[in-house]
Amino acid sequence: MAKNEFLLEIVTPERVVYSDQIESVDAYAEDGRLGIRHDHRPIVTKLKIAPFNFRKPEGETETVAISGSGYLEVTPEKVTVLCQTAELSNEIDVERAKAAKKRAEERLNKENTDFTRAQASLKRAIARINAADRTDEDK
Ligand code: ATP
Repeated sequence: MAKNEFLLEIVTPERVVYSDQIESVDAYAEDGRLGIRHDHRPIVTKLKIAPFNFRKPEGETETVAISGSGYLEVTPEKVTVLCQTAELSNEIDVERAKAAKKRAEERLNKENTDFTRAQASLKRAIARINAADRTDEDK
């Protein structure tokens, strides 16, 4: 193992989404953008509902969409992302995400809607669409 690599584990209640050596993470924490390399200090931070990127040792970049209640922990041993749901870009069903986006937008336009819940659905759908598109920008 090269000395600038570290273990990334992305874990949900359903499954281990990813567990392998990587070179860097570029994520969106609630308080701003977060770049992590092998020598990052230990932290725990809350992640935004957004795609994030990580770089594999071969230089390939992978994109993952995460949903709400996502946390990222850095320890000297590894980086762990713990969240409700997560999908790698190639696992995402874009048509399903587009349909979820449409449903959420319709709910947001109704009166007496659960605004927080509809907005979270909308953010998840947008994160999935963007991750499948391999972009990391909020649309
Ligand atoms: P939907 O209304 O389409 O179910 P959702 O945002 O309510 O979307 P979640 O409750 O966040 O869905 O996820 C339920 C499960 O389905 C999780 O395992 C999640 O990884 C998976 N999932 C959700 N949307 C997609 C998608 N577009 N492509 C692949 N997997 C998805």
